[in-house]
Amino acid sequence: MRIDTPVQKLKGVGPKVSEQLAVRGIFTIADLLRFYPSGYDYFEDPASIAESAVGAPCTLCLTIVGSGTTFRRGARSISHFEASDGTGKVRLTYFNMPYLRQTLQPGASFIFRGMLRQTGNGNKYMDQPWFMDKSGYSRVRGTLQPRYPLVRGVGPARMRGFLANALEAAAGMRDILPAEQREKYGLIGKYEALSLIHFPTDRESLLNARRRLIFDEFFAFIIGIRRQKNEDGERINRHPMKTDGTWCQRLLKSLPFELTDEQAGAWEEIKSDLSGKTLMNRLLQGDVGSGKTILAFLALILCAENGRQGALMAPTEVLARQHMEGLTAYLKESGLALKPVLLTGAVKGRARKEALSRIADGTADIVIGTHALFQEAVDYHCLGLVVTDEQHRFGVRQRTGLIDKGEDVPVLVMSATPIPRTLAIILYGELQVSSLRKLPPGRMPIKSLALHESQRGRAYRFILSEIKKGRQCYVICPAVEEGEGQEMENVAEYSAKLRAVLPDTIRIDSLTGRMKPDEKTAVMDAFASGSTDILVSTTVIEVGINVPNATVILVENAERFGLSQLHQLRGRVGRGKEQSFCIFLYTGKEKPDRLEILEQNTNGFDIAEKDLKARGPGDLFGVRQSGLPQFGLADLYEDSDLLRQASECSDRMLREDPDFSCPEERRVDYSTI
Ligand code: ADP
Ligand code: MG
Repeated sequence: MRIDTPVQKLKGVGPKVSEQLAVRGIFTIADLLRFYPSGYDYFEDPASIAESAVGAPCTLCLTIVGSGTTFRRGARSISHFEASDGTGKVRLTYFNMPYLRQTLQPGASFIFRGMLRQTGNGNKYMDQPWFMDKSGYSRVRGTLQPRYPLVRGVGPARMRGFLANALEAAAGMRDILPAEQREKYGLIGKYEALSLIHFPTDRESLLNARRRLIFDEFFAFIIGIRRQKNEDGERINRHPMKTDGTWCQRLLKSLPFELTDEQAGAWEEIKSDLSGKTLMNRLLQGDVGSGKTILAFLALILCAENGRQGALMAPTEVLARQHMEGLTAYLKESGLALKPVLLTGAVKGRARKEALSRIADGTADIVIGTHALFQEAVDYHCLGLVVTDEQHRFGVRQRTGLIDKGEDVPVLVMSATPIPRTLAIILYGELQVSSLRKLPPGRMPIKSLALHESQRGRAYRFILSEIKKGRQCYVICPAVEEGEGQEMENVAEYSAKLRAVLPDTIRIDSLTGRMKPDEKTAVMDAFASGSTDILVSTTVIEVGINVPNATVILVENAERFGLSQLHQLRGRVGRGKEQSFCIFLYTGKEKPDRLEILEQNTNGFDIAEKDLKARGPGDLFGVRQSGLPQFGLADLYEDSDLLRQASECSDRMLREDPDFSCPEERRVDYSTI
């Protein structure tokens, strides 16, 4: 079966299931195979309570002592069980599972797995530990079992069944990398990698699978970019802009600040691109808060003054709206009578019609939006510039879609994941790069601290003290809801827990990527306006949100995020005049290296150049799948070696086969990596 076959063709996948899979972006067999586990459970030998570390996942063989108790509160219930193993006692708590009392009966023994925690008085407990009877456990003992992000109606066993079917269907798929390239880079086959990432036999095979899949993510990204360039050929700037106008001057004069030297330098480079002979293709990179936006606005205004339309594409609704509001305020302040238009998925009905007609007849000088900007129905009068913000968040197809709207359009891409120049060239080829290495003056560096999760109380006290001063706080959890992994904090339960432990006066709200656009907007608005104190969220807030009054960000399960992602998350704070703080809470026995790096460095360029020396198995179990959509497993900073190799390999393959005119199967494989 071809891997672009719809998932419905798989045994057991009916209309209901495929609807739920679609929510996760899974439409084809290839998509399903790329639905990598969010982590793995290693079924280790059970240990005794006495020898198990508090604050780390552990496996215990426990006997239930006495009969459990259940409290009901409305539709909710909490059940407690006391259990022991002769070396100590542990209290087990389950939420909304009153029926467990029939199984966890006095005297019964089971293997329990979960996070071992301890109260202030030294009583050990586990919340929602997973359990299995002894004979069942002996069958999985010593194996690695994948855990998947939650898909409604599809339990773990069923998911594994689907994946086994998908692998069977994909058997015989072609490998995009010829054998000699695989050998050169010590990579296993693609099919083998996909099999092992879902059904690992041991840690080493899992590492090999990850290496191959990360390699492919970079490979596909680079090939996509290079192909795009080849199709363009030599690009000539057919509409060089005049840069002696006055609009940008007016805007600059009305700003409450002066451009930094680096900003001024980058602005000169952008102007010289836009007025030059070759079409602009420039990357503007700088840490969050380095002041990239103003340069985008200047470029858009220059474009408008030259009688052409400029488009700014942001990766999220919220960010697009923030840009729209920011630009509108600047225009008002400077008295420039420009007419920007907002176009996102949330702009509907008449407003949408009007936006589209103004884009088509040219009365919209500047268009700001999400990827809605490149949809079929959008017709530009004379598109003259495309700026993409946080461009790495878009797929290659989304980016080129907008460029296709106009012939030969100059492009400015902005990125807050600063990468060393050598990596930038690898990723983007001959793209020109402007870097903002320093933040505007007067900014205080964010203070960062990595704490073991057993010190969560300390973190909460600190947050409360900031809220008392009138500040706000972000809390980031790796999972959305219960069931995505027992050892990960999830937004739904976490918000409830926070409400229970913090005073009633603290206003807590939550945000996940799965909410509808208008719901997200409402939650963000409430936070931005200061009517929420704590915003609990997944990484959806990773990108560009600007709430200067937020001075603390607490990242739960920090060990589960990649270095570049943690750095991005930290950039949510430190945007105002007050000192800001970042707290990374980690579980497990040791502090991960990357947290150490983040504690000691605040500059993204510095961080990007740091090498992660030890890569403990911790990395394996915190496989991230919430990072940059372009990369499911890869982290730009941590996997830079593989990036170099993928680049070398793709360049060589393109030299031999410039159009990448591979057989059909290879093409399919490439486009769906
Ligand atoms: P990013 O690079 O993350 O997109 P922004 O463009 O949002 O950063 O800038 C962050 C903040 O810094 C904004 O509030 C902006 O007004 C401010 N800013 C930008 N340039 C300067 C400057 N030269 N001096 C002082 N503040 C600046
Ligand atoms: Mg920005």
